[in-house]
Amino acid sequence: MVIEKDRVVTIDYKLHDAAGGVLDSSEASDPLIYLHGNENIIAGLEKHLLGKKAGDELVCVVPAKEGYGERDEALVFKVTKSEFGEGTPIELGMQFEAHGEDGAQIVTVMGIDGDEVTIDANHPLAGEELHFSVKVVDVREATAEELEHGHVHGGCDCDEGCHDGHGHGCGDGGCDCSD
Ligand code: ZN
Repeated sequence: MVIEKDRVVTIDYKLHDAAGGVLDSSEASDPLIYLHGNENIIAGLEKHLLGKKAGDELVCVVPAKEGYGERDEALVFKVTKSEFGEGTPIELGMQFEAHGEDGAQIVTVMGIDGDEVTIDANHPLAGEELHFSVKVVDVREATAEELEHGHVHGGCDCDEGCHDGHGHGCGDGGCDCSD
């Protein structure tokens, strides 16, 4: 069975930046399972996976614009400590999730000056050319419920938090991946 829209795909992957530094890898966790063609993973990687089958290995380069986008310096701005809520410890380099109009977004603390906190709302991988090494582990048909939800059920390692690779929020309407 080959990878195409609305099929559930399991991959092992390593992600490097242009200089060869490791950005992310499925080695430390479980393989990534996603629903193809449903914006669960970045478009630039899906393009390379289309038509592949279990056992296939590929190495591909995804430019920033097909990955996490180019950096936008307008997304670096100052807020006051009070906006973080009472008693929230704020440290340089700290990352947290902010919820805006476009859904959850990872925000990084870039500077702290008295009551003033500089934050960067660019995705941590924005502007990065993404170098993927991928091995396709499995391809299967999605269930009707998965298609309805637009994401995979079961096999989600939600105890580690549903981070980017999973591309879905746990616990939305009848989803069984919320533990
Ligand atoms: Zn669901």
